[in-house]
Amino acid sequence: MAKYTPMMEQYLKIKAENKDAFLFFRLGDFYEMFFDDAIQASRELEITLTKRDSGQKEPIPMCGVPYHAAENYIKTLIEKGYKVAICEQVEDPKTAKGVVKREVVQLITPGTVMESAMLREGENNYIASLSHFQDGSYVVVYHDLSTGENRLALIMDGWDAVIHELYNQPIKEIVISSNLPEQLQQQLKGKLNVTLSYQDIVDFNAEYRDLCENLNDERLLKAFSRLLNYVQHTQKRSLHHLQQAKVIDLQHHLSLDMYSKRNLELTETIIKKGKHGSLLWVLDKTVTAMGSRLLKKWLERPLLNQKKIEERLEIVEGFIQAFMERDQLREVLKSVYDMERLAGRVAFGNVNARDLVQLKQSLEKLPEIKAILSGFQGEEINKLADKILFPNQLVDLLNTSLVDNPPISIKEGSIIKDGYHSQLDTYRDASRNGKQWIAELELKEKKETNIKSLKIGYNRVFGYYIEVTKANLHLLPEGKYERKQTLTNAERYITPELKEKEQLILEAEEKIIELEYQLFLEIRDQIKEHIPQLQHIADVVSKVDVLQAFATVSEINNYRRPSFSSNNTLTIKKGRHPVIEQVMKDGTFVPNNISLNSERNMLLITGPNMSGKSTYMRQLALTVIMGQIGCFVPCEDAELIIFDQIFTRIGAADDLVSGQSTFMVEMLEAKHALSHATDRSLILLDEIGRGTSTYDGMALAQAIVEYIHNNLQAKTLFSTHYHELTILEESLPQLKNIHVRAEEYEGNVVFLHQIKEGPADKSYGIHVAKLAELPNELIDRASEILEKLENEGKPTTDGDTEEIKSGQLSFFNEVQTSSPTLNEKQIGSSEKVIKDLKELDLFALTPLDAMNELYRLQKQVKKY
Ligand code: ADP
Ligand code: MG
Repeated sequence: MAKYTPMMEQYLKIKAENKDAFLFFRLGDFYEMFFDDAIQASRELEITLTKRDSGQKEPIPMCGVPYHAAENYIKTLIEKGYKVAICEQVEDPKTAKGVVKREVVQLITPGTVMESAMLREGENNYIASLSHFQDGSYVVVYHDLSTGENRLALIMDGWDAVIHELYNQPIKEIVISSNLPEQLQQQLKGKLNVTLSYQDIVDFNAEYRDLCENLNDERLLKAFSRLLNYVQHTQKRSLHHLQQAKVIDLQHHLSLDMYSKRNLELTETIIKKGKHGSLLWVLDKTVTAMGSRLLKKWLERPLLNQKKIEERLEIVEGFIQAFMERDQLREVLKSVYDMERLAGRVAFGNVNARDLVQLKQSLEKLPEIKAILSGFQGEEINKLADKILFPNQLVDLLNTSLVDNPPISIKEGSIIKDGYHSQLDTYRDASRNGKQWIAELELKEKKETNIKSLKIGYNRVFGYYIEVTKANLHLLPEGKYERKQTLTNAERYITPELKEKEQLILEAEEKIIELEYQLFLEIRDQIKEHIPQLQHIADVVSKVDVLQAFATVSEINNYRRPSFSSNNTLTIKKGRHPVIEQVMKDGTFVPNNISLNSERNMLLITGPNMSGKSTYMRQLALTVIMGQIGCFVPCEDAELIIFDQIFTRIGAADDLVSGQSTFMVEMLEAKHALSHATDRSLILLDEIGRGTSTYDGMALAQAIVEYIHNNLQAKTLFSTHYHELTILEESLPQLKNIHVRAEEYEGNVVFLHQIKEGPADKSYGIHVAKLAELPNELIDRASEILEKLENEGKPTTDGDTEEIKSGQLSFFNEVQTSSPTLNEKQIGSSEKVIKDLKELDLFALTPLDAMNELYRLQKQVKKY
């Protein structure tokens, strides 16, 4: 086999060390890719695949992107979840002997991008690491390289809890140990849709000792080290902006499992996956990117501590009361840039002078923010004002060093102010004097030659020259000028003294550019010292921003400050759904009351389809969450309970990604709620049992209600279209029936969306079918069948009706229109099945056992 060219050898060696990334191999003005990288990249990036000689018989596949346009291509790959290794020439090709030395200088991965074009303004860009330990515990670390944030959670209750925890954050990438069991790795990929990366070195890096002060547990340290080592490996530089690791105390936050977070559409909608239509969309009246990110964090982890909640509410109330001041505050905040990320870029080394001017302008707003905050009534707001400390030294530095409108490039000068550095000033004088001299020369030459159009110009090739139009050439004295360039209608000349000055000017300018760059790097290093201070300021400012957002949204939408009950009582007067009321125009949303207490732990909600059952349930959960993040809530008056957890079974979205059926998802969600809920939890079960056939669905629904009632005592809302279940009120003392009122008007159903005590009087399925404009013929036929069923308690077929022993299905009271037509053989087996069913000890069954049992029973009926 022929040998590869030396450069290809170099490529292959570097590629072998970066197998899981596209290797962007710098060749002149291009990043080239070869072999499989080239084939795949040409497809993903829609660029031409070419070939290149490599020393082998056959040319190899190649494709490339120009280096100055690389950012967009990299962005595309990163957004698709790939990694890109940037391999640069690390010595000057002119002086290199043999192949130019190349090295990977940065590994860009979905979780570690720093380029602002690849980051979304109001969103964190999280990478997580996951570590597992012998004792069965796990540690999750969240890290945002762009802001330097580090948070850790120690999870003691098993793998499911890990998935639920990770689901809580919009993670792009997870760093794991290569010996995490394959099956768990698959789950991470499937459920969370993230890039998996590996880091097996968990040795502590002493350079980051200061970040670890809060980590007093070997497991936390190891997990954090895994993450830091990976980040270090990808960035290949020291990072000065990383913040102290904080341990998330899971016990101190309202916990929302993965299902609830998705079902309640807190930060994105289920179907479109966008912010529009989510609770975040309604609440996000923040004006800074930092505030927007913090709001999302608060939504993902509502508080449990009443004192902390009241502190926030207190501030919101203060903000609401002083509209003028709040408006002023919003105006000032609008001119505050993303200081958190700017600080990150200072540390990372990709900050430019324009960024620093933005930083300065933001910092200069602080006294005003502080003054406005001090002007509000209320101790809590004034405390916020006290936390804002003006970084005098830093602002002075920025003020004296940088010009007001620097260019983006930091390598072309025009960054540093006059008077900042004396050597720079000297060079500048030289350059300016030279230019002055040239301007004077122009005047002098004009006068002497009497050529009005004579001018002195400059270009890169010939330097300074004197230009005279052809018509005026005869006016020039002999021998004084040396001709340099001929244009169509002019000649360009130089003189020795012009060249001499030119030399001085160019030298000075070269030195200026070099020195400005050096000075800029020095300034940047000095700013690094101020990073913790900047992060503190960013913290306070983002908090102020979120709280003013709460005040703003509360005022616009007429929310009220909730109080919190000390005796397990929740009462909401005229509550509304915060999102639906926004989507519906002109105040057509119908408000409803709700009341829950120790004697009234569970509400069973009946009512026709489309009447508003699901809305009512979600409305409660969203109100609870809003209250626990410290925002006012959509109602006339609210006394809330501080819940420890919320569980939901809502909506019918199939979990297609992980290949589970609706019914299985229903059962998993129910199981999760039943095994974790406490008497301080809120459970919402929306039409559970719908995903399977009528009878087993209803049986399961009843069993679940009874189980919660008897064993958990969690506050529970349970909606059902199984009207039969309303009878449970008789046997379960803490369960109450409520219903959504609907009226029949001239054969059509009118939804009033009003919640009333007691069970619904009838089902309106056919009316809804009519609203959906099914054919009239079909609607008439359905009404006919229904009427027969209601009169005779049995289904009907075309022509003759089969006999069914009446009373045998008394358990279910009313036969559903959807139930299959039974034949005689089935009736015999049905009796047996019903007997089995009656004897079932439901409380001794897990939901899964129940499913198996039902499966067996159903098979018996289906056999015939
Ligand atoms: P169900 O769960 O009973 O089938 P939904 O809660 O899904 O009904 O509500 C169906 C539709 O009815 C909603 O999309 C909304 O447009 C409307 N709706 C529900 N509740 C109200 C309300 N309180 N006021 C006004 N419209 C409502
Ligand atoms: Mg519903």
